[in-house]
Amino acid sequence: MSIAQNIASVKARLAAAAHKSGRTADEIKLVAVTKTQPVSVIEEALANGVRNIGENRIQEAEEKLPQLAAKFDEFHFIGHLQSNKIKKLMNLKPTLIHSIDKFSTASKLNDFLTLYDVEQDILIQVNTSGEESKFGIQPQETLAFVERISQLTKLRLKGLMTIGKLTTDEKEIRSCFRLLRELSERIEMADIPNVEMQYLSMGMTGDFELAIAEGANIVRIGSAIFGPRTY
Ligand SMILES: *Cc1c(COP(=O)(O)O)cnc(C)c1O
Repeated sequence: MSIAQNIASVKARLAAAAHKSGRTADEIKLVAVTKTQPVSVIEEALANGVRNIGENRIQEAEEKLPQLAAKFDEFHFIGHLQSNKIKKLMNLKPTLIHSIDKFSTASKLNDFLTLYDVEQDILIQVNTSGEESKFGIQPQETLAFVERISQLTKLRLKGLMTIGKLTTDEKEIRSCFRLLRELSERIEMADIPNVEMQYLSMGMTGDFELAIAEGANIVRIGSAIFGPRTY
């Protein structure tokens, strides 16, 4: 299968899942995860209907993004953010940072933004699976964390992100996504200034239809578009 065919197939599956959940495809943002993919392959995806790209390593993004001749709409940072990489990340002008999970890093990011008098849209990453290997705030700590983050005036909190449990049990995966949606609803109801639960970023190649069924409106998809990754 070519990348063009893969993109068409992912978009068709996304649209079908959207309709099943009473929405339309244009209500769900597709982020093509381009990590490990060379510039030429990313260009091919951009020429065939991909508009938004996601990377999880700043150094890799730094090398590839300036080389892209094709235009894209949005760059999403989906990896773990270390405070010593903030300046480099901000140079890449991310539309959305999906993965805030540490107050000290968020606070340093806010200091940087204050210096340049700019604002940044962010999501908070929640560890909904309980897997120790995963980054993210614990579900029961999320509301308190949101309240602290809301004090950082240059950060615009736009929602939550999670990675579903790595298992073949669909019920378990779905319960991760349901938990994220419920947390987001609870936060919305708390009506915290400077906090808007606009986005639920959840769902990858193996589970994006389940995520959409639970309310995802950003899906992050790599291998279904590019094939398996070789590191
Ligand atoms: C790699 C990655 C993805 C995409 O994974 P696929 O299974 O290849 O679709 C999504 N989200 C994050 C945070 C990732 O690191």
